[in-house]
Amino acid sequence: MLVERSRIPPEGLDLRVCEEPRWEGVEGLWTSLDPVEASFHLERKGGGILATGAFVTTAVVLCSRCSEAVSIPVSDQFEVLYGGTPNGPRGDDSELTPEETDVEFLEDDRLDLSGLLRENVLLNLPLQPLCRAECRGLCPRCGVNLNEISCQCRIPEPDPRLRPLQHLL
Ligand SMILES: [Zn+2]
Ligand SMILES: [Zn+2]
Repeated sequence: MLVERSRIPPEGLDLRVCEEPRWEGVEGLWTSLDPVEASFHLERKGGGILATGAFVTTAVVLCSRCSEAVSIPVSDQFEVLYGGTPNGPRGDDSELTPEETDVEFLEDDRLDLSGLLRENVLLNLPLQPLCRAECRGLCPRCGVNLNEISCQCRIPEPDPRLRPLQHLL
């Protein structure tokens, strides 16, 4: 969804969006992703657009230890200033930009809300998702899910009689 800068009224524009995430380049990051519900407040700022808002969705990803599918909530708030010039001097914009505001280039005077959501969803996915904090993962020898059953291939304990000699081995 694209918003033309010229369509934003002086008092700003509030939008609610439900984005069906048909995004390219995200294959394999999740098993499924619910539509992304987002609210935006867009304002003209300098020669660009200041976009603030929040989104929420649910992703199904695979646990990094046991590969079970887990459903995780993904949500965040954002504040991004889209400036009119990619590399040129920022001019007045710099003093309007607090530290926590991201600054991006505004292409063709249009803001791509879909791209903004895509980026923020990706940033908020866990790098190593876990089905639960104490997930025991898969047995490295026989591959069973140790959350469900325990297998017989325990790593043998060293013989206690040899323990005093262990530092010599
Ligand atoms: Zn797990
Ligand atoms: Zn095993």
